[in-house]
Amino acid sequence: MSASGFPAAARTALGDGQLRVNLARATGTIRARRAAAVGEVEDWEDLRAAGAAIKARTMATLPELLERLEESVVHAGGLVHWARDAVEANAIVAGIGRDHGVSEVIKVKSIATDEIGLNDALAAEGIAAVETDLAELINQLAGDWSSHILVPAIHRNRAEIRRVFEATIAAGRTLSDEPAALAEAARLHLREKFLSTPMAVSGANFGIAETGTVCVVESEGNGRMCTTLPEVLVTVMGIEKLLPEWRDLEVFLQLLSRSATGERMSPYTSLWTGVHPGDGPQEFHLVLLDNGRTDVLADELGRQALHCIRCSACLNVCPVYTRTGGHAYESVYPGPIGAILTPQLAGLHAAPTLPFASSLCGACLEVCPVKIDIPTVLVHLRGRVVREEKWRLGPERLAMDAIAATFRSRRRYERAQRLARLGRGPVAEALLSRWTAMRELPEVPGETFREWWRGRRAG
Ligand code: SF4
Repeated sequence: MSASGFPAAARTALGDGQLRVNLARATGTIRARRAAAVGEVEDWEDLRAAGAAIKARTMATLPELLERLEESVVHAGGLVHWARDAVEANAIVAGIGRDHGVSEVIKVKSIATDEIGLNDALAAEGIAAVETDLAELINQLAGDWSSHILVPAIHRNRAEIRRVFEATIAAGRTLSDEPAALAEAARLHLREKFLSTPMAVSGANFGIAETGTVCVVESEGNGRMCTTLPEVLVTVMGIEKLLPEWRDLEVFLQLLSRSATGERMSPYTSLWTGVHPGDGPQEFHLVLLDNGRTDVLADELGRQALHCIRCSACLNVCPVYTRTGGHAYESVYPGPIGAILTPQLAGLHAAPTLPFASSLCGACLEVCPVKIDIPTVLVHLRGRVVREEKWRLGPERLAMDAIAATFRSRRRYERAQRLARLGRGPVAEALLSRWTAMRELPEVPGETFREWWRGRRAG
């Protein structure tokens, strides 16, 4: 995140009228679909409670469960790698690519690999990473990056996408703005990649400790192609994506699809367990990624951010995200979840303004399928920023220190009340003009309670 952080980036985004139109249309549509899909489920609140409980249990027993996952994957013929950080994870994936002499890998949409900058790391090793999710492909071809967890190109409309394609994979052809024509152009490009690339890289929605099974949920079928056609499959999974048992999927597949896209079930739910001779990839690697997650676990309140199943429902209802879009967060995790996850994963010093990128309206908590109390974590992180990053918030901290000193002394407090009465007029209006442009300055009563009490006793 740049030094000026979210406020400056948000101001730039708010000046882009087209972006705001694109965002309002897309998030409005997804919001309505989610509400309808969730409204159909009578025991939705029970499902949410079950999801939250399973995640809390998972985090409480994470070390044991990760070891169990490793055993299960190895037992099923896969290989498990442990990566402490982005550098280690990238080196592992690049090493596997080098061992197989590949110059290209196909990729399933994965935020974990965006988080560690895998594509750039592979490029530095001479290996091109080809995104196969349509929106990720658009961003890659445009030299752009994701602005939404689930709809990475939400900030672009059809005409913009057509221009990107005509300049790259459909060079020399004239396309229309019709979704079918744009999808066909992508399909022609990707089909060749699916059939010729020997190695794929995926993320994971869930990893099951009990069976060693990995699950990816998607809408386009590109994930199914990547996880079945190549000879070698590498999955990079954040350690928090773990579920203890196979039966837990029943809860999470219902919660995820309805919260994410407003569908009863996602079109493609791919599950794979190790290696099966003659069927699918013959070599499977699971890279378990920490990259700051165990530090997040150490914060008792903040750790609930690790329960996130990346459905993006909180983005679509957030009054801040729906106006600024994802780029303003300058993180691969945008929106309300990004505002609590990024500062914890990367360190408060890396994103001190993000916990303040919220109106604390609580809409995110209402829709979160695993009941992450984002507003409470935001307030908690704001407190940590003020305490631990004080130099960044100098004027605000000075003001708070002055207020605290005033409240500690009765005489100072009463003097401040008299001053407030005197300064309520034009002076205060001038000093606080930016604040009062949006808000009413409260009336200061002509007499305080203490003055009234003293006068009553004297009388
Ligand atoms: S915080 Fe909750 S609503 Fe937001 S993406 Fe994660 S699971 Fe979905």
